[in-house]
Amino acid sequence: MKPADNDGNPVPSYPRELALPVVSLSGWKDSLATALLAIERHGRDRVRLQYADTGNEHPLVEEYVYEYLPDALGVTIETVRADFSKEIERKRTYIDTVWRDEGVAEDTIKTALEFLVPTGIPFLDLCVWKGRFPSRRAQFCTQELKTRPLTRALFDIARSTNLYVENWQGVRRDESSARKNALVWEDGDCGLWIHRPIATWTAQDTFDIARRHGIKSNPLYSFGCTRVGCMMCINTSKSEISNVQSRWPFVIEKIEKWEFIVRKCSKRQLATFFFFDSKEGRTDIEHYQANNIRQAVAWSQTSRGGQQFDLEHFMPRSECSSQYGLCE
Ligand code: SF4
Repeated sequence: MKPADNDGNPVPSYPRELALPVVSLSGWKDSLATALLAIERHGRDRVRLQYADTGNEHPLVEEYVYEYLPDALGVTIETVRADFSKEIERKRTYIDTVWRDEGVAEDTIKTALEFLVPTGIPFLDLCVWKGRFPSRRAQFCTQELKTRPLTRALFDIARSTNLYVENWQGVRRDESSARKNALVWEDGDCGLWIHRPIATWTAQDTFDIARRHGIKSNPLYSFGCTRVGCMMCINTSKSEISNVQSRWPFVIEKIEKWEFIVRKCSKRQLATFFFFDSKEGRTDIEHYQANNIRQAVAWSQTSRGGQQFDLEHFMPRSECSSQYGLCE
């Protein structure tokens, strides 16, 4: 009979000393707590920490992850970055042939080919390749920028060691209804186990373990941010947009620049980071004018009763669609 936990869910049968915990680190409290627990249970020499760099993080998060945490934890942080240069090359060929066959205007083709080049910034490269930004309904960013490259890196580790690789994820059941049934152990693909050791923890528990180890929290907490990860994130709430504009206007400038570039790579020459005002009967340029990042900022600064947009796009959201705790 296979070993199981108290709820009857399967657990790994190999000896714990043969386990190799690989923690997916986001820089936020839950993944930090998971990393600390892994260190407590297995020792810092055994634990590996992986961080997916999207190229769209706040500089304070980069500083925290790259400069503060490795020293504070005594563990090297392995960075994973998605690379879309091959996809971009294929898209260029597609534009050059299929768009032309479809009769797309020569100016549009020329502009798209001019701007569709890899920049080395994973988030931007993903968007120029797709010719659009991700959205709540098409949240391909988590998969392409985090889940896929981290999984690939996990398999690379598994291939290069004789240990049993476990992916430790900072997921808590009380975060949201989508996570309320998160298993503590899950048999992943190809012999990799997924472990969620803080599934039953409260948010306070995660702060407590950090305090016990004397580890500082992500600095964005002290600036009123309620999530970490991309800045901006497609799931950013109205109040967060306003917070970003007042504290870090350079982030808005970055998104404005990216909107310009991605728009140039799109067939309709229409790409905005948010799409919150989808009134019918508009031309593409009118949609752009109504939805670009500056409009989002302007709206974020209206009080209740300001112009009404599709509020679903700006409702606070407790978690992204990732079940892996990668976008918190
Ligand atoms: S943090 Fe937001 S924008 Fe970044 S990958 Fe996750 S869902 Fe996408």
